[in-house]
Amino acid sequence: MQTQLPATVLATASGRRADAILRACVHCGFCNATCPTYLLTGDELDGPRGRIYLVKEMLEADAPSIVAREHLDRCLTCRACETTCPSGVAYGELAEIGRNFIEARVPRGVVDRVVRRWLVLVLSVPARLAFFARLARGVKWMLPDYLARAVPRIKPQVAVAVKNHSRRVIVLDGCAQRATTPEVNAALARVLDAADIKVVRASGEGCCGSLALHLGQEARAHVAMRANVDALYAAANGAEAIISTASGCGVTVKDYGRLLADDPAYAERARWISDHTSDAAEYLAGINAPLTKRNAATTVAWHPPCTLQHGQRVRGVVESLLQRAGYQLVPVADAHLCCGSAGTYSVLQPDLADALRLRKLAALTAAQPDVIVTANVGCQLHLRDGTDVAVRHWLELV
Ligand code: SF4
Ligand code: SF4
Repeated sequence: MQTQLPATVLATASGRRADAILRACVHCGFCNATCPTYLLTGDELDGPRGRIYLVKEMLEADAPSIVAREHLDRCLTCRACETTCPSGVAYGELAEIGRNFIEARVPRGVVDRVVRRWLVLVLSVPARLAFFARLARGVKWMLPDYLARAVPRIKPQVAVAVKNHSRRVIVLDGCAQRATTPEVNAALARVLDAADIKVVRASGEGCCGSLALHLGQEARAHVAMRANVDALYAAANGAEAIISTASGCGVTVKDYGRLLADDPAYAERARWISDHTSDAAEYLAGINAPLTKRNAATTVAWHPPCTLQHGQRVRGVVESLLQRAGYQLVPVADAHLCCGSAGTYSVLQPDLADALRLRKLAALTAAQPDVIVTANVGCQLHLRDGTDVAVRHWLELV
Protein backbone atom coordinates (compact mmCIF):
# COMPACT_ATOMS: atom_id res chain seq x y z
CA MET A 1 0.00 0.00 0.00
CA GLN A 2 1.34 3.44 -0.89
CA THR A 3 1.38 5.95 1.92
CA GLN A 4 1.90 9.69 2.16
CA LEU A 5 2.31 10.32 5.83
CA PRO A 6 3.33 13.93 6.58
CA ALA A 7 6.73 14.80 8.01
CA THR A 8 5.12 15.66 11.35
CA VAL A 9 3.88 12.07 11.72
CA LEU A 10 7.05 10.50 10.31
CA ALA A 11 9.07 12.48 12.85
CA THR A 12 7.73 10.18 15.58
CA ALA A 13 8.78 6.56 16.20
CA SER A 14 5.14 5.43 16.18
CA GLY A 15 4.51 7.29 12.92
CA ARG A 16 7.46 5.58 11.23
CA ARG A 17 6.34 2.21 12.56
CA ALA A 18 2.79 2.81 11.31
CA ASP A 19 4.16 3.73 7.89
CA ALA A 20 6.12 0.45 7.69
CA ILE A 21 3.08 -1.59 8.76
CA LEU A 22 0.78 0.18 6.28
CA ARG A 23 3.22 -0.37 3.41
CA ALA A 24 3.22 -4.13 4.08
CA CYS A 25 -0.53 -4.36 3.43
CA VAL A 26 -1.48 -5.24 -0.16
CA HIS A 27 -5.22 -4.70 0.56
CA CYS A 28 -6.10 -8.23 -0.59
CA GLY A 29 -8.86 -8.51 2.04
CA PHE A 30 -8.09 -12.13 3.01
CA CYS A 31 -8.15 -10.99 6.65
CA ASN A 32 -11.83 -10.01 6.45
CA ALA A 33 -12.78 -13.69 6.17
CA THR A 34 -11.56 -14.40 9.71
CA CYS A 35 -12.52 -11.13 11.41
CA PRO A 36 -15.30 -11.72 13.97
CA THR A 37 -16.73 -8.19 13.74
CA TYR A 38 -16.76 -8.19 9.94
CA LEU A 39 -18.53 -11.55 9.97
CA LEU A 40 -21.17 -10.12 12.31
CA THR A 41 -21.80 -6.71 10.75
CA GLY A 42 -20.73 -7.25 7.12
CA ASP A 43 -19.40 -3.66 7.16
CA GLU A 44 -16.02 -3.23 5.43
CA LEU A 45 -15.07 -0.65 8.07
CA ASP A 46 -15.62 -3.29 10.78
CA GLY A 47 -13.01 -5.51 9.16
CA PRO A 48 -9.21 -5.24 9.39
CA ARG A 49 -8.72 -3.93 5.85
CA GLY A 50 -11.23 -1.14 6.43
CA ARG A 51 -9.70 -0.26 9.79
CA ILE A 52 -6.25 -0.17 8.23
CA TYR A 53 -7.53 2.33 5.64
CA LEU A 54 -9.12 4.43 8.37
CA VAL A 55 -5.84 4.62 10.32
CA LYS A 56 -3.93 5.41 7.11
CA GLU A 57 -6.29 8.27 6.19
CA MET A 58 -6.15 9.62 9.72
CA LEU A 59 -2.36 9.60 9.90
CA GLU A 60 -2.04 11.07 6.39
CA ALA A 61 -4.30 13.94 7.45
CA ASP A 62 -2.44 14.17 10.77
CA ALA A 63 -5.85 14.67 12.37
CA PRO A 64 -7.87 12.41 14.63
CA SER A 65 -10.97 10.77 13.18
CA ILE A 66 -14.13 10.02 15.15
CA VAL A 67 -15.16 7.46 12.50
CA ALA A 68 -11.85 5.65 12.93
CA ARG A 69 -12.34 5.68 16.70
CA GLU A 70 -15.80 4.15 16.39
CA HIS A 71 -14.54 1.27 14.24
CA LEU A 72 -11.40 0.76 16.32
CA ASP A 73 -13.62 0.64 19.41
CA ARG A 74 -15.52 -2.24 17.81
CA CYS A 75 -12.26 -4.12 17.09
CA LEU A 76 -11.58 -6.89 19.64
CA THR A 77 -7.80 -6.76 19.08
CA CYS A 78 -8.14 -10.53 18.74
CA ARG A 79 -5.49 -10.52 15.97
CA ALA A 80 -7.14 -13.31 13.99
CA CYS A 81 -6.40 -11.05 11.01
CA GLU A 82 -2.66 -11.30 11.72
CA THR A 83 -2.81 -15.09 11.65
CA THR A 84 -4.60 -14.95 8.28
CA CYS A 85 -2.57 -12.19 6.62
CA PRO A 86 -0.14 -13.56 4.00
CA SER A 87 1.91 -10.33 4.11
CA GLY A 88 2.64 -10.36 7.84
CA VAL A 89 0.85 -7.07 8.56
CA ALA A 90 1.19 -6.27 12.28
CA TYR A 91 -2.42 -5.14 12.63
CA GLY A 92 -2.45 -5.21 16.46
CA GLU A 93 0.42 -2.74 16.63
CA LEU A 94 -1.21 -0.48 14.05
CA ALA A 95 -4.51 -0.50 15.97
CA GLU A 96 -2.58 0.40 19.14
CA ILE A 97 -0.88 3.34 17.35
CA GLY A 98 -4.22 4.46 15.90
CA ARG A 99 -5.96 4.32 19.27
CA ASN A 100 -3.18 6.21 21.05
CA PHE A 101 -3.16 8.84 18.26
CA ILE A 102 -6.89 9.49 18.70
CA GLU A 103 -7.02 9.31 22.51
CA ALA A 104 -4.20 11.87 22.79
CA ARG A 105 -6.07 14.35 20.58
CA VAL A 106 -9.85 14.03 21.01
CA PRO A 107 -11.34 13.76 24.48
CA ARG A 108 -14.28 11.37 24.77
CA GLY A 109 -17.56 12.40 26.35
CA VAL A 110 -17.49 12.67 30.13
CA VAL A 111 -19.44 9.45 30.78
CA ASP A 112 -17.35 7.41 28.32
CA ARG A 113 -14.15 8.81 29.83
CA VAL A 114 -15.21 8.06 33.39
CA VAL A 115 -16.36 4.51 32.54
CA ARG A 116 -13.10 3.67 30.75
CA ARG A 117 -10.93 5.08 33.50
CA TRP A 118 -13.03 3.38 36.17
CA LEU A 119 -12.80 -0.01 34.42
CA VAL A 120 -9.01 0.14 34.38
CA LEU A 121 -8.75 1.41 37.96
CA VAL A 122 -11.07 -1.30 39.30
CA LEU A 123 -10.22 -4.34 37.18
CA SER A 124 -6.47 -3.88 37.51
CA VAL A 125 -6.36 -4.00 41.33
CA PRO A 126 -7.68 -7.23 42.93
CA ALA A 127 -8.75 -5.56 46.21
CA ARG A 128 -10.76 -2.92 44.31
CA LEU A 129 -12.28 -5.54 42.02
CA ALA A 130 -13.28 -7.64 45.05
CA PHE A 131 -14.84 -4.62 46.77
CA PHE A 132 -16.88 -3.48 43.76
CA ALA A 133 -17.87 -7.02 42.72
CA ARG A 134 -19.29 -7.70 46.20
CA LEU A 135 -21.07 -4.34 46.16
CA ALA A 136 -22.50 -5.00 42.68
CA ARG A 137 -23.73 -8.46 43.64
CA GLY A 138 -25.78 -6.84 46.40
CA VAL A 139 -27.51 -4.48 43.97
CA LYS A 140 -27.60 -6.75 40.95
CA TRP A 141 -31.31 -6.13 40.45
CA MET A 142 -30.53 -2.47 39.72
CA LEU A 143 -27.96 -3.19 37.00
CA PRO A 144 -28.60 -3.64 33.27
CA ASP A 145 -28.81 -7.34 32.42
CA TYR A 146 -25.45 -7.52 30.62
CA LEU A 147 -23.65 -5.85 33.56
CA ALA A 148 -25.41 -7.98 36.19
CA ARG A 149 -24.27 -11.13 34.37
CA ALA A 150 -20.71 -9.82 34.06
CA VAL A 151 -20.15 -9.23 37.79
CA PRO A 152 -17.58 -11.88 38.80
CA ARG A 153 -17.76 -14.02 41.93
CA ILE A 154 -14.78 -13.30 44.22
CA LYS A 155 -12.96 -16.29 45.65
CA PRO A 156 -10.52 -16.62 48.57
CA GLN A 157 -6.89 -17.36 47.84
CA VAL A 158 -5.97 -21.05 47.60
CA ALA A 159 -3.01 -22.26 49.66
CA VAL A 160 -0.91 -25.06 48.17
CA ALA A 161 1.68 -26.93 50.22
CA VAL A 162 4.78 -27.34 48.04
CA LYS A 163 8.28 -28.59 48.79
CA ASN A 164 11.35 -26.38 48.65
CA HIS A 165 12.92 -27.40 45.31
CA SER A 166 16.13 -25.92 43.98
CA ARG A 167 14.55 -25.24 40.55
CA ARG A 168 12.31 -22.16 40.70
CA VAL A 169 9.98 -20.25 38.43
CA ILE A 170 8.07 -17.00 38.89
CA VAL A 171 4.34 -17.29 38.25
CA LEU A 172 2.43 -14.14 37.34
CA ASP A 173 -0.46 -13.51 39.72
CA GLY A 174 -1.95 -10.79 37.54
CA CYS A 175 -5.02 -8.88 38.65
CA ALA A 176 -8.51 -10.17 37.75
CA GLN A 177 -7.41 -13.80 37.91
CA ARG A 178 -6.00 -13.36 41.42
CA ALA A 179 -9.46 -12.30 42.67
CA THR A 180 -11.74 -14.50 40.57
CA THR A 181 -9.98 -17.80 39.77
CA PRO A 182 -7.11 -18.24 42.28
CA GLU A 183 -7.45 -22.03 41.87
CA VAL A 184 -5.67 -21.77 38.50
CA ASN A 185 -2.28 -20.72 39.85
CA ALA A 186 -2.75 -23.20 42.71
CA ALA A 187 -3.20 -25.94 40.09
CA LEU A 188 -0.01 -24.88 38.33
CA ALA A 189 1.93 -24.85 41.62
CA ARG A 190 0.76 -28.44 42.22
CA VAL A 191 1.83 -29.58 38.73
CA LEU A 192 5.20 -27.88 39.09
CA ASP A 193 5.74 -29.34 42.54
CA ALA A 194 5.31 -32.81 41.03
CA ALA A 195 8.04 -31.83 38.54
CA ASP A 196 10.35 -30.72 41.41
CA ILE A 197 9.99 -27.03 40.61
CA LYS A 198 9.01 -24.39 43.14
CA VAL A 199 6.79 -21.40 42.40
CA VAL A 200 7.95 -18.02 43.68
CA ARG A 201 5.97 -14.80 43.62
CA ALA A 202 7.30 -11.39 42.65
CA SER A 203 6.40 -8.97 45.40
CA GLY A 204 4.79 -5.87 43.89
CA GLU A 205 3.77 -7.57 40.64
CA GLY A 206 0.34 -6.43 39.47
CA CYS A 207 -1.71 -5.76 36.35
CA CYS A 208 0.37 -6.26 33.20
CA GLY A 209 -0.99 -3.03 31.67
CA SER A 210 -3.02 -4.64 28.89
CA LEU A 211 -6.37 -3.27 30.09
CA ALA A 212 -5.15 0.33 29.83
CA LEU A 213 -3.19 -0.36 26.64
CA HIS A 214 -6.23 -1.65 24.76
CA LEU A 215 -8.24 1.38 25.82
CA GLY A 216 -5.61 3.77 24.44
CA GLN A 217 -4.44 4.82 27.94
CA GLU A 218 -0.79 4.47 26.99
CA ALA A 219 0.77 6.44 29.84
CA ARG A 220 -1.20 4.49 32.45
CA ALA A 221 -0.28 1.20 30.76
CA HIS A 222 3.42 2.12 30.81
CA VAL A 223 3.29 2.91 34.54
CA ALA A 224 1.92 -0.61 35.20
CA MET A 225 4.53 -2.19 32.91
CA ARG A 226 7.45 -0.39 34.55
CA ALA A 227 6.23 -1.43 38.00
CA ASN A 228 6.07 -5.03 36.81
CA VAL A 229 9.52 -4.88 35.25
CA ASP A 230 10.91 -3.66 38.59
CA ALA A 231 9.08 -6.39 40.54
CA LEU A 232 9.83 -9.30 38.18
CA TYR A 233 13.46 -8.38 37.63
CA ALA A 234 14.05 -8.06 41.38
CA ALA A 235 12.51 -11.50 41.98
CA ALA A 236 14.19 -13.20 39.03
CA ASN A 237 17.28 -14.21 40.95
CA GLY A 238 17.84 -17.84 39.92
CA ALA A 239 14.33 -18.38 38.51
CA GLU A 240 14.46 -20.21 35.21
CA ALA A 241 11.26 -18.72 33.74
CA ILE A 242 8.37 -16.32 34.25
CA ILE A 243 5.13 -18.17 33.68
CA SER A 244 1.70 -16.85 32.82
CA THR A 245 -1.51 -18.81 33.29
CA ALA A 246 -3.68 -16.04 31.80
CA SER A 247 -2.87 -15.71 28.11
CA GLY A 248 -4.20 -12.14 28.04
CA CYS A 249 -1.46 -11.13 30.49
CA GLY A 250 1.19 -13.38 28.94
CA VAL A 251 0.82 -11.83 25.50
CA THR A 252 1.47 -8.37 26.95
CA VAL A 253 4.38 -9.33 29.21
CA LYS A 254 5.99 -11.12 26.26
CA ASP A 255 5.69 -7.78 24.43
CA TYR A 256 7.29 -5.60 27.16
CA GLY A 257 10.54 -5.54 25.18
CA ARG A 258 8.81 -3.76 22.28
CA LEU A 259 6.47 -1.68 24.39
CA LEU A 260 9.26 -0.21 26.56
CA ALA A 261 11.96 -0.16 23.85
CA ASP A 262 12.10 3.65 23.86
CA ASP A 263 12.56 3.90 27.62
CA PRO A 264 16.33 3.85 28.27
CA ALA A 265 15.86 3.05 31.97
CA TYR A 266 13.71 -0.01 31.26
CA ALA A 267 14.36 -1.24 27.71
CA GLU A 268 17.03 -3.82 28.52
CA ARG A 269 15.26 -5.34 31.55
CA ALA A 270 11.91 -5.30 29.72
CA ARG A 271 13.47 -7.28 26.84
CA TRP A 272 14.96 -9.75 29.33
CA ILE A 273 11.56 -10.27 30.92
CA SER A 274 9.86 -10.77 27.55
CA ASP A 275 12.52 -13.30 26.54
CA HIS A 276 12.02 -15.30 29.74
CA THR A 277 8.20 -15.32 29.80
CA SER A 278 6.26 -18.41 28.72
CA ASP A 279 2.67 -19.48 28.78
CA ALA A 280 2.16 -22.33 31.26
CA ALA A 281 1.43 -24.76 28.40
CA GLU A 282 4.67 -23.92 26.58
CA TYR A 283 6.69 -24.33 29.73
CA LEU A 284 5.09 -27.61 30.86
CA ALA A 285 5.45 -29.08 27.36
CA GLY A 286 9.09 -27.95 27.28
CA ILE A 287 9.99 -29.75 30.51
CA ASN A 288 7.79 -32.76 29.69
CA ALA A 289 6.00 -32.32 33.02
CA PRO A 290 4.21 -35.34 34.48
CA LEU A 291 0.44 -34.82 34.11
CA THR A 292 -2.42 -36.68 35.74
CA LYS A 293 -6.09 -36.85 34.83
CA ARG A 294 -7.68 -35.14 37.84
CA ASN A 295 -11.23 -34.60 36.60
CA ALA A 296 -14.03 -37.08 36.03
CA ALA A 297 -14.73 -35.50 32.63
CA THR A 298 -13.97 -37.63 29.58
CA THR A 299 -14.73 -35.30 26.68
CA VAL A 300 -13.35 -31.77 26.58
CA ALA A 301 -14.10 -28.83 24.27
CA TRP A 302 -11.03 -26.60 24.04
CA HIS A 303 -11.43 -22.86 23.50
CA PRO A 304 -8.04 -21.39 22.52
CA PRO A 305 -8.01 -17.72 23.60
CA CYS A 306 -7.08 -15.28 20.84
CA THR A 307 -4.23 -14.01 23.00
CA LEU A 308 -2.79 -17.55 22.99
CA GLN A 309 -3.40 -18.70 19.41
CA HIS A 310 -3.07 -15.37 17.53
CA GLY A 311 -1.16 -13.15 19.97
CA GLN A 312 1.41 -15.66 21.31
CA ARG A 313 1.09 -18.07 18.38
CA VAL A 314 0.95 -21.01 20.76
CA ARG A 315 -1.16 -23.58 18.93
CA GLY A 316 -1.74 -27.27 19.52
CA VAL A 317 0.20 -27.33 22.80
CA VAL A 318 -2.66 -27.38 25.34
CA GLU A 319 -4.47 -29.91 23.17
CA SER A 320 -1.57 -32.35 23.24
CA LEU A 321 -1.07 -31.89 27.02
CA LEU A 322 -4.76 -32.63 27.67
CA GLN A 323 -4.61 -35.70 25.44
CA ARG A 324 -1.44 -36.83 27.18
CA ALA A 325 -3.31 -36.57 30.51
CA GLY A 326 -6.06 -38.84 29.17
CA TYR A 327 -8.82 -36.54 27.90
CA GLN A 328 -10.64 -36.82 24.61
CA LEU A 329 -10.94 -33.53 22.72
CA VAL A 330 -14.14 -32.97 20.76
CA PRO A 331 -14.06 -31.10 17.42
CA VAL A 332 -15.00 -27.40 17.67
CA ALA A 333 -15.91 -25.38 14.57
CA ASP A 334 -14.40 -21.94 13.92
CA ALA A 335 -11.90 -22.27 16.77
CA HIS A 336 -10.03 -19.25 15.38
CA LEU A 337 -12.90 -16.87 16.23
CA CYS A 338 -13.00 -14.73 19.38
CA CYS A 339 -15.56 -15.46 22.14
CA GLY A 340 -16.26 -11.74 22.63
CA SER A 341 -14.56 -11.30 26.00
CA ALA A 342 -11.48 -9.30 24.92
CA GLY A 343 -10.59 -7.46 28.14
CA THR A 344 -13.21 -4.77 28.72
CA TYR A 345 -14.91 -5.36 25.36
CA SER A 346 -17.77 -7.39 26.86
CA VAL A 347 -18.70 -4.36 28.99
CA LEU A 348 -18.10 -1.64 26.39
CA GLN A 349 -19.59 -3.47 23.38
CA PRO A 350 -22.16 -5.76 25.02
CA ASP A 351 -24.26 -6.48 21.90
CA LEU A 352 -21.35 -7.62 19.77
CA ALA A 353 -19.82 -9.50 22.72
CA ASP A 354 -23.11 -11.32 23.36
CA ALA A 355 -23.48 -12.29 19.71
CA LEU A 356 -19.93 -13.64 19.62
CA ARG A 357 -20.44 -15.60 22.84
CA LEU A 358 -23.64 -17.19 21.51
CA ARG A 359 -21.85 -18.27 18.36
CA LYS A 360 -18.84 -19.55 20.29
CA LEU A 361 -20.90 -21.50 22.83
CA ALA A 362 -22.94 -23.12 20.05
CA ALA A 363 -19.67 -24.35 18.52
CA LEU A 364 -18.18 -25.44 21.85
CA THR A 365 -21.24 -27.39 22.98
CA ALA A 366 -22.20 -28.92 19.61
CA ALA A 367 -20.55 -32.25 20.47
CA GLN A 368 -21.94 -32.19 24.04
CA PRO A 369 -18.61 -32.17 25.90
CA ASP A 370 -18.42 -32.86 29.63
CA VAL A 371 -16.46 -29.66 30.17
CA ILE A 372 -15.22 -26.58 28.26
CA VAL A 373 -11.65 -25.51 28.97
CA THR A 374 -9.69 -22.41 28.09
CA ALA A 375 -6.47 -20.62 29.09
CA ASN A 376 -7.48 -17.09 29.97
CA VAL A 377 -9.52 -15.74 32.86
CA GLY A 378 -11.47 -13.28 30.69
CA CYS A 379 -12.68 -15.98 28.28
CA GLN A 380 -13.45 -18.32 31.17
CA LEU A 381 -15.70 -15.85 33.01
CA HIS A 382 -17.35 -14.57 29.83
CA LEU A 383 -18.21 -18.06 28.54
CA ARG A 384 -19.25 -19.30 31.96
CA ASP A 385 -21.96 -16.63 32.16
CA GLY A 386 -23.65 -18.02 29.05
CA THR A 387 -23.82 -21.78 29.56
CA ASP A 388 -24.68 -24.52 32.03
CA VAL A 389 -21.67 -26.57 30.92
CA ALA A 390 -18.73 -26.17 33.31
CA VAL A 391 -16.03 -23.81 31.97
CA ARG A 392 -12.60 -24.27 33.54
CA HIS A 393 -8.97 -23.38 33.01
CA TRP A 394 -7.28 -26.42 31.46
CA LEU A 395 -4.70 -26.53 34.30
CA GLU A 396 -7.46 -27.47 36.74
CA LEU A 397 -7.93 -30.74 34.85
CA VAL A 398 -4.34 -31.96 35.10
S1 SF4 B 1 -4.73 -9.90 4.62
FE1 SF4 B 1 -2.98 -8.62 5.19
S2 SF4 B 1 -2.31 -7.69 3.27
FE2 SF4 B 1 -4.40 -8.48 2.92
S3 SF4 B 1 -5.73 -6.70 3.40
FE3 SF4 B 1 -5.56 -7.91 5.26
S4 SF4 B 1 -3.85 -6.92 6.36
FE4 SF4 B 1 -3.71 -6.24 4.24
S1 SF4 C 1 -8.10 -7.74 15.63
FE1 SF4 C 1 -9.86 -9.15 15.42
S2 SF4 C 1 -11.67 -7.79 15.44
FE2 SF4 C 1 -9.88 -6.48 15.09
S3 SF4 C 1 -9.71 -6.30 12.86
FE3 SF4 C 1 -8.39 -8.04 13.44
S4 SF4 C 1 -9.69 -9.87 13.28
FE4 SF4 C 1 -11.06 -8.06 13.28
